Amino acid sequence: MKEYEIYNPSGFSLPALKIKKRKSRKNIENDSTVDNLIKSKLLLNLKFNTLYLDILSISKEIIDYLKFDKKKISFQDILSKDSKKEGNIEQYKTLKFLIDFVKTNLSPNIENKQLKEFISEQIEKGNIIIKEKLIELSKNIQNKLSNFEEKVKIDMPILSITTVYFCKKCNKIICLDKFKRSKCSCGADITNIAYVEQIPLNHFNKNMVNFLESNYWFEHGVDYILRKKNFQTLVGYDVLGNSGVPHEIDNIAYYKDENYRFFCECKNSEVTEKDIFIFSGKMIDIGGISGYIFTTTENVPKELNRLARSKNIKIIKDALKKNVESLIREIKEGENGFSLK
Ligand SMILES: [Zn+2]
Repeated sequence: MKEYEIYNPSGFSLPALKIKKRKSRKNIENDSTVDNLIKSKLLLNLKFNTLYLDILSISKEIIDYLKFDKKKISFQDILSKDSKKEGNIEQYKTLKFLIDFVKTNLSPNIENKQLKEFISEQIEKGNIIIKEKLIELSKNIQNKLSNFEEKVKIDMPILSITTVYFCKKCNKIICLDKFKRSKCSCGADITNIAYVEQIPLNHFNKNMVNFLESNYWFEHGVDYILRKKNFQTLVGYDVLGNSGVPHEIDNIAYYKDENYRFFCECKNSEVTEKDIFIFSGKMIDIGGISGYIFTTTENVPKELNRLARSKNIKIIKDALKKNVESLIREIKEGENGFSLK
């Protein structure tokens, strides 16, 4: 286990923090597409937020299709995946019935030539459906992103490309990213790149998917606001408490003029009583005296605000619907800003 580093920025006389960034998180943040997303400075822009979360769900669908092909096509999978598509479902139901029938009633060496041909015909149809679906999803992502780029006049290099190699004979996915010789299940001996069709697919890569699903986008969005207010910041660190227990702290902000720092928690959901107690407990353990909870929720009940205030925590709600300036206004400078009690 990596040791904690002492964080004690110059110009402050505050007790040092023992901090550590987890390797998995470091890897995600070091990904160039993730870095480009952070640099867009638009993480808390509601329209962009809707867009990248939309691209996230399409990308997950693409990654899913690419995955399930690797573990050999399971017709049950296709059945459940394409269940929304009326046209295909009947075809697969027939096929599934036939395959199950063959498995249970006939010997593994199917002699019936017609049945064999029927099955491979159906598999090829399924492969084409998957290929077309992947192309459609990738186009959809590119169109959505380029529309937004055009509107905000910013170039956003946040997509990754996977090159997919399809068997030219049956359209089955043979390999990803790099050509490999292999024997296709349709019988084609793929010894040459001429036997495959290469199609580039645009989507969010796994690091980006993790970054968005772990809600790191929110922490970095808040980090941008804090830095915009000239705080010296840390985002996404574990801080070792006085108890010896490490705590995940979303944001830490240092304010030089008043030799002061505070801590933040980012919640992309309702804030509960429990959240406030936990955050307050963490702060006590790491020597913090005040903090903010940023939330995307529109409504925070009065009692929760009161509870938070009693713990010297301020809740900033509706973070996605407010513009940068009004979020900045809600963050008070220094200890005086916390005369909330
Ligand atoms: Zn093939």
